[in-house]
Amino acid sequence: MRIQVIYTGGTIGMVSSPNGLVPGADLEGWLKNLLAGTDLEGVVRLTELDKLIDSSNATPDDWEAILTALDTYRADAYVVLHGTDTMSYTAAALSYARVGKSEPVVITGSQLPLGAPGSDAGKNVMGALTAASSGKAQGVSLYFGDHLLAGNRTTKISSWGFEGFSSPTVPPLAIAGGPWHWNKTEMPGREAKSPFKNRAAYKRHDVAVIDLVPGITAERLSALVTPRPEAVIVRAFGVGNAPSDEPGFVEVLGELVRAGVPVVIASQCVQAEVVLGAYETGDVLAAAGCVGAADMTLEATYAKLVFLLSQGLTGRQIAEWMRKPIASEL
Ligand code: ASP
Repeated sequence: MRIQVIYTGGTIGMVSSPNGLVPGADLEGWLKNLLAGTDLEGVVRLTELDKLIDSSNATPDDWEAILTALDTYRADAYVVLHGTDTMSYTAAALSYARVGKSEPVVITGSQLPLGAPGSDAGKNVMGALTAASSGKAQGVSLYFGDHLLAGNRTTKISSWGFEGFSSPTVPPLAIAGGPWHWNKTEMPGREAKSPFKNRAAYKRHDVAVIDLVPGITAERLSALVTPRPEAVIVRAFGVGNAPSDEPGFVEVLGELVRAGVPVVIASQCVQAEVVLGAYETGDVLAAAGCVGAADMTLEATYAKLVFLLSQGLTGRQIAEWMRKPIASEL
């Protein structure tokens, strides 16, 4: 068994600077000490990406750089060390692009740098390596705290807690302990086939994400979608409801759809299942041609739109894919 660890940046390998945390820790030496005397000694190799970033600077180009590294370093399983801020976006992006690949990828990071007293770095890396080498992990998963989660179902729920991530609509894949407890959660496995044969690389696309608030006007909404984006995600209320009494509001979204812009209605609820039509305030959105995000997280929805736009899909085709899973994200 050979496990490749890829460091992309993020707190885990950062050190203090006069301007706050920046990459620069001795990850190689630290990992060697961590694994000394364990079953994983000699099994794990580390590489660092050329451009180490705070994940708040990540773009779809960085998702592609990680995918390229995964293809470059042949191994039986991978652990990606990543900043926590946008880790769930990356996990979702990797999951769509790696359908049909048999080697599991486990992504992790930490709230505190590896050198900080009481850091969660060691625990998270050991957990991710345990999952990667278990023979049970498939596709792209995320390990944090004591939980292994389906990568494209996750969201960062705490900026400080050691249980910083959750998968609100599905149970964890596994809970670490003595012994680990594994759940049967659907993940794209070895047998899965990607519907996108010759996947085109991730590129940046203009996807607007709009949060609704009580009192938002049609003018504000209209300004937020000017110039016209390639796709829009509206984070609506509850099961996908919007201020339908607000004059002109729904029409702004209808105009976008008519212009070929997919409008996806997500929910502001952390745990959600969008059902347009459960209320009149959501039914009008469906009538205007908007499509619901079902139980996808914002991260999974955004990465999916960028994935589909990168494949050259447009309007109606994209709306159709919103209802179909690519990598069990839905
Ligand atoms: N800003 C950091 C990052 O996302 C936070 C972290 O890693 O926890 O890169």
